[in-house]
Order: sequence, then structure tokens, then C-alpha cells
Amino acid sequence: MIVGIVGGGQLARMLALAGYPLGLNFVFLDPAPDACAAPLGEHLCGGYDDRALLARLAARADVLTYEFENVPEKSVEILSALGSIHPNANALAAARDRLAEKTLFRELEIPVPPFTAVDTRADLERAAVRIGLPAVLKTRTLGYDGKGQAVLRNAGDLDAAWARLGGARLILEGFVPFDREVSVIAVRGRTGETLFYPLSENTHQDGVLRLSVSRPGDPMQVLAENYARQLLDKLEYVGVLALELFQTGGTLLASEMAPRVHNSGHWTIEGAQTSQFENHLRAILGLPLGATAPVGYAAMVNFIGTLPDAGPVLAVPGVHWHAYGKRARPGRKLGHATLRADNRQDLRAGLDRLLALIEPNADPDPGKPPLARQFEVAAALGE
Ligand code: AMP
Repeated sequence: MIVGIVGGGQLARMLALAGYPLGLNFVFLDPAPDACAAPLGEHLCGGYDDRALLARLAARADVLTYEFENVPEKSVEILSALGSIHPNANALAAARDRLAEKTLFRELEIPVPPFTAVDTRADLERAAVRIGLPAVLKTRTLGYDGKGQAVLRNAGDLDAAWARLGGARLILEGFVPFDREVSVIAVRGRTGETLFYPLSENTHQDGVLRLSVSRPGDPMQVLAENYARQLLDKLEYVGVLALELFQTGGTLLASEMAPRVHNSGHWTIEGAQTSQFENHLRAILGLPLGATAPVGYAAMVNFIGTLPDAGPVLAVPGVHWHAYGKRARPGRKLGHATLRADNRQDLRAGLDRLLALIEPNADPDPGKPPLARQFEVAAALGE
């Protein structure tokens, strides 16, 4: 069987790595000649809107999927007509536009921060009054990893934010003073069978994920699963879905969803019985899903901008190294390390060692708390 993937970055690469033991082969569509998944399959090098290449991708593949949500709408239409694509076009449309996404959450009675659409400078003025400040102005489409966003702290910030983002269709969201961020990774098969991984507790720096920790037995697990299940069923979803949430007190507010495998689920490669990558492939191929039960405790640290020296990192017991084969560039995700342990104490000890090796390279903002604060937050929440 051949799986066709729109996108040839690290998510496509890790899907392929999970697919080889299942006897699968891969074809990727990606405009970058050095796409990091390319060495693992056939690479169709060209634009995501290249009709001839889209047709070739569909002809070569038995099933189609994608590794990012900004696939052009027209391309999804073309691929849907030519082949079997999962998750479906509705799921992609909902995830592509922050306004559609939040409207769907609200329709399903999944709590969300206050939000409103902003198309003009006058809209922004009204929205700031209605939502209140602080608030976050975001582009409705094409934003990721904190790109296309501006935090408005007071009325004086509106002009600069508008100068930077105005012109695109925007959304203004209330700023959530969250206790922590979590995500739930879910997988739904073709028969509707649905499984969930233990919550990931996530720390971002400058809008980019730095650290995820698996939280087996988390008190918010059931609530997060209920919200994710509503989305999966409503969208008749097939594949892996990530739902990112803000926790304030005993409440979870939906931040966004990703209709694909997700960075906060990378720890499942070693920290769960079946990884999110294998389960995504099983789901889209109509195979039985694999168990999502945790294997002890796990944490994942992203390597951003530079890769640390492998030697000292690999000397930390329980560490697994994942380099994506990408050229170093500031702000670029180049790889990650997963730490797996049989108990929380060992995980914490290992993570303290690992973070000490990585943080000096990460240009941490001196005004911001170090990543290790993650565990202090967890303790305060009643670990
Ligand atoms: P996003 O691209 O929407 O996932 O945003 C990236 C990160 O920015 C989130 O994971 C949060 O850490 C932060 N962020 C985004 N929106 C908000 C918000 N409304 N309130 C507080 N923090 C936010």
C-alpha cells in the first residue's frame, strides 16, 4: 500500500518511519527540494496547488492524508475527487480558519475564550471594547507557532498591531490567564472506534511548543476527551486529531485543533503502546487502532534553532533522540528528545538534566520562567 502525504516535513517523515514496519510506502508532495521526509519515499517536488502533481499524488497513492492544515481549499477539492483523503475536507475547513473553528467549538458547547471577527480598523476598535484587554489579535488563516499574532495589552497597542496584521481577515480573542496548557491527542478509525492518549501538558516559548509532558491519570482527562469526542463525531473524523486547551481552575477552554498528528504527541513514540503516527496510519487505512495506554511517564523537548550535542543528551538515562535531517535556521524545529521513565521521580530527575543541556542553547527570555517550571505548575495543581 502507498500513502500519499501533502507536505514533506518532520510530521510526514515520522509518519513514514512509523509506516515502514506496517509494510507501507510513501509519496510526498512538497515544494522544498530538501524536504526532510523526501529520503523516505518518492518526492513530488512542486506547489501544493500544482494540479498535475496533485493528480500524480492521487494516482500513486492508495490513501491520502496531509501534515498541515493550510492545504489550499482547491487542492483538497481536487484530491477529494481523485482519491480517498483523511481527515475529510470538512475537518480541514474547520481547522484552517480560526473563526470557523471557534464557531464550531461554540456550537458543540465546548467552552472558548471570548472572540469576534475583525476585518477593518473600526472593527478592531469595537472588538477591543467588546472583548476587553488584554486580548490577542490573530490572522484567521495561515497562522501557526504564534506567527500572525499580536498581544494587545492596552489601547495604545492597537495601531501597531493593525499596522502589522491589518489587511488579512482577523479574529480578536480574549487573553486567557491560564494555569497551564494541555492537549488531548485522539484517534478515530473508519468504523467510529475512538481512542485517546493521556493528556499532554505543554509549555510554549514565544508561541512555539518547547516541552510536553505526558500526564497519565490527569484530573482533566475525562473533560478533555468529552470535548474531543464531540468534534470527532460531528466531523465524522478519521485519523489523529489534537485539541489544545487552556486550563483555568477547573475549566478547560478550547484554544485550537489540529487535524493531524501533533508536536505535543511526539512523546507517544516511546511513551505509549502505539504512537500517534502509527495510529493515524492505521485509522486512515481502515485497520484496527492500537492501544493508546501510556508506557510509564514521558516528556518531549523540542530542539529549536540548533541541535544540542548528541553525546551529553544521550547520556541521560531514558532519552531518545529524534533529528529531522533539516538545515539549522533560527526558530526552526530541528528535532526533539523524548525522555521515558517508569515513575515521575525518575522523569523529573532526567528532565532536570536534559533541560540543563538544552536551555542554554534556546536563547531563553530572561523575563520568562525556565521550562523546568512545568513541574512546579503540575505540583501546584495537585500532582
Ligand atoms: P496558537 O498559535 O493559537 O496555538 O498560539 C500559540 C500560543 O500562544 C498558545 O499555545 C498560547 O501559549 C499563546 N496564546 C494564544 N492565544 C492565547 C490566548 N487567547 N490567551 C493566552 N495565550 C494565548
